[in-house]
Amino acid sequence: MIKHEIKIAFKEYNAVEELDQADSALCSEAIRALKNSHSPYSKFRVGAAMRLHSGKIIYGSNQENVAYPSGLCAERVALFHWGANHPDDPIESMAITAQTDDFSILKPVTPCGSCLQVLAEYEKMQDKKIKIILYCQNGPVWVIDGVDSLLPFLFFEERLTLPS
Ligand SMILES: [Zn+2]
Repeated sequence: MIKHEIKIAFKEYNAVEELDQADSALCSEAIRALKNSHSPYSKFRVGAAMRLHSGKIIYGSNQENVAYPSGLCAERVALFHWGANHPDDPIESMAITAQTDDFSILKPVTPCGSCLQVLAEYEKMQDKKIKIILYCQNGPVWVIDGVDSLLPFLFFEERLTLPS
């Protein structure tokens, strides 16, 4: 029997003001993305903003539907928009934030497993790590360099990839 241990790493900042200018600006864009959240059922608004290599910002927000499973998370709204429209412009970083009137969010909200899987595949596709900035507006900011620290056992099956 071999016991393996996996180490993950992330940085914690006390407030968004401690980030560098580009990252703190991206956090503001994530807050801007919250405005278009369609979340009348959960009342939990999530905003995501991605900065591409060209400097372009892509926005995503959670989109719910009365037919419950038809909705989608903010992260995948942004990621699929990128995949459909800007796949040749690498994603440098993604800031994610959330708001609700129902309770206080004390820690940064982390992406769900499905969003992490999509992030992982696009990160592999572009062959460049994506910086993930998790920002809770009145609390700490977590910065993760690359999706493997959030999803170390990502599903990526080399045999499913077409030879290039
Ligand atoms: Zn998700």
